[in-house]
Amino acid sequence: MKTRRLFLQKASLSAMAFAVPALNPLSAMTNTINTSAKNPQTLRVAIMGLGSYGTRVAEAIQDCERVKLVGVISGTPSKVVAWREKYGIPEKNCYNYENFDAVKDNPDIDAVYVITPNGLHKDQVIRVAKAGKHAICEKPMAVNAEDGQAMVDACKAAGVQLLIGYRMHFEPNTLEVIRMRKAGELGEIHFFQGLSGFVIGDPTQWRLKPELSGGGAMMDIGIYSINGARYMIGEEPIWVTAQEVKTNHEKFKEGIDETITFQMGFPSGAIASCLSTYNMNNLDRFYLNGSKGWVEMQPSTGYGPIKGETHKGPLSEPIVTHQTVQMDEMAAIIFDGKEPEVSVNGEEGVRDMKIIDAIFKAVETGGKVPLNLG
Ligand code: NAD
Repeated sequence: MKTRRLFLQKASLSAMAFAVPALNPLSAMTNTINTSAKNPQTLRVAIMGLGSYGTRVAEAIQDCERVKLVGVISGTPSKVVAWREKYGIPEKNCYNYENFDAVKDNPDIDAVYVITPNGLHKDQVIRVAKAGKHAICEKPMAVNAEDGQAMVDACKAAGVQLLIGYRMHFEPNTLEVIRMRKAGELGEIHFFQGLSGFVIGDPTQWRLKPELSGGGAMMDIGIYSINGARYMIGEEPIWVTAQEVKTNHEKFKEGIDETITFQMGFPSGAIASCLSTYNMNNLDRFYLNGSKGWVEMQPSTGYGPIKGETHKGPLSEPIVTHQTVQMDEMAAIIFDGKEPEVSVNGEEGVRDMKIIDAIFKAVETGGKVPLNLG
């Protein structure tokens, strides 16, 4: 409740700052959900991987209308004890990485949210699917498109849903830009620029180990510019070129990209120019240019508040906790068949993985790599 009060305060503060009427972000979101089902079913989730993002998601779920954190999967018993106490999780809903296949026989868990290092997602999601539970998986969904497709296939075969944690697909200012673009308010889209990066700290962390990360900045943060280019332009890219720069070979070893610039071409003739880096701070910016207008967002994909200007004035949609809205919307997708404005399904994740594969290939060959995202 404390967090919820904070949202409402933040929402009205921001509304005052932008001189628009105060809005209740949660009522807007919950109305959407409540009208889609007469008796909304609660999504009972177990979180796998109780690290920094898992902790953020757990906190955000406390404010959800129709999602409940009911279980954990962890290799650290002390964390399980702490989470059990904090969130009132029963012992029978706690698993470790060896025994979590037994979630199959637990009727009190509907879905498992995989929030572990990237290189573990594929096997873990496939095990979740085989246990007959819906899988929510963090980005990047896998370390390459082939693995991502195997996850999609396994979930299909098991008759469960696979959703990727693309929280920006539910963020109100982002959705407003998509609405403007679809309504023709920006005219023909010509150009997108995405800048995604930060200076990564601890050189011993899993993000800098290829077997666990699958790559460096591109897998972790560059993916926001890739995904953003697609939902901001509203088309699928047909080619990509890329160039890599590495200034610190000790910290960024073989298989870990430090800085990559990449360009993508789209069927309409629109182009995107993007930067992904682990070596520069304050890089979280999207710019979209059309024949009738423009949008500039900064921050564009951080935890918020997302801020932006357009040729018509500032973006002033309600400020929300991204993960709270994401999880409530995912409950509606899973139980009510709701179609989100921008998909978060496994196939959506595979498209980004195909682009990442092509970017790495373009870096290697120095050429233009064609893309067929279907
Ligand atoms: P983290 O290091 O804070 O947490 C990872 C968790 O996985 C830890 O609890 C760790 O104990 C556990 N783990 C299990 N097996 C492990 C192993 N073999 N090696 C290392 N850790 C292991 O990382 P994080 O920041 O929480 O990231 C986890 C996932 O969430 C990544 O895929 C990341 O890309 C994603 N993420 C998404 C967002 C977002 O905004 N959507 C933000 C941050 C992270």
